[in-house]
Amino acid sequence: MGCALRSLGLNHLLDAHARSPGIAACWNASEPRYGDYLSQPRGDGWNLDRTRFDQDFWQEAIAQGVRGFVGVRLEVVGRSGGRTSLRLHDAKQSQDAATSMLVDATGRYCAVARDRGTRCVAIDRMIGISRLAQTGSGTISFGNRLLIEAFPGGWLYSLPVRGGLQVVLITDADLVHRTPQHTWQEAILEAPVTRTRLGCGGEQAVARTWLAQSQSVHPVHGPGWIAIGDAADARDPLASQGVLRAIEGGIAAADAIVRELGGSSDAIEELGLRNERERARYLELRTETYAREQRFPSHAFWSRRTLNSAPTP
Ligand SMILES: Cc1cc2nc3c(=O)[nH]c(=O)nc-3n(C[C@H](O)[C@H](O)[C@H](O)COP(=O)(O)OP(=O)(O)OC[C@H]3O[C@@H](n4cnc5c(N)ncnc54)[C@H](O)[C@@H]3O)c2cc1C
Repeated sequence: MGCALRSLGLNHLLDAHARSPGIAACWNASEPRYGDYLSQPRGDGWNLDRTRFDQDFWQEAIAQGVRGFVGVRLEVVGRSGGRTSLRLHDAKQSQDAATSMLVDATGRYCAVARDRGTRCVAIDRMIGISRLAQTGSGTISFGNRLLIEAFPGGWLYSLPVRGGLQVVLITDADLVHRTPQHTWQEAILEAPVTRTRLGCGGEQAVARTWLAQSQSVHPVHGPGWIAIGDAADARDPLASQGVLRAIEGGIAAADAIVRELGGSSDAIEELGLRNERERARYLELRTETYAREQRFPSHAFWSRRTLNSAPTP
């Protein structure tokens, strides 16, 4: 992450966030095993305060001359004469615009790609249910490490953030039969290491539910547009790569667009092919990682990941 930001001259954006030494994982083991980010090729980890990071990034973009709108929904109106017509809606009014190249960075909505008639293929129905536990001045066990713990119904991750300990349950939407609050509470009861970490926590905030399914759009680009980040490929939170991939995807797309506008006829095509290769590698890694957890083979969350990883449109 540091590398990508450094290449944009924005490494200082990380100064406001806590560094994380690595991961503690109860994966195919009831006791945590430790891995340090320093031993990874990319070598660093941060517990991002996402709201703050996104706001600071936006401010930097504006300072560097980006013209932006906040709270605006983009709608594609049509394409003619090599330009795409857009309508930008805010709560009060709409404004028309046009562009020769549109980057779809709308995350899992993939608003532009869908509008252009691409197929969005999901391979699971994963969701995240998060709760913030206030921790006061107490020390949180495992420090700033990300703790991951598998249990029969899915897995949990926890990490210290501003205001407490964020504990997120990852499971499949169709396996949730009670309220998010209850489901989260039941999961904690089945995850002893997370429960112990939470033990120092106080009051817990209301549960929030997030879409977390792995999905990809096909194709990832077309005349006058390209999808990046989650709009192109939304991946399992276990990969912990989404923010970095979104930034790197933006950098690569900007480079390809400049080359294409400068006369290269295959810069965007090349990017699409690279994306296809990364996709295939990701799916292999996902299957390998879930297959390593072998304690719960008869439970739906695990059996569907190890036995059936075929895409379901
Ligand atoms: C539970 C969970 C845990 C995760 N944990 C990690 C982690 O530990 N590390 C990590 O790196 N990643 C993690 N991720 C993934 C990470 O959050 C995403 O990969 C990353 O946010 C993708 O960035 P993005 O810019 O592509 O999309 P997003 O961050 O989703 O941003 C898309 C933006 O587009 C806006 N938008 C949508 N439609 C329109 C429209 N029509 N007009 C205008 N705007 C629109 C949305 O409001 C949003 O602001 C996690 C994800 C989940 C669900």
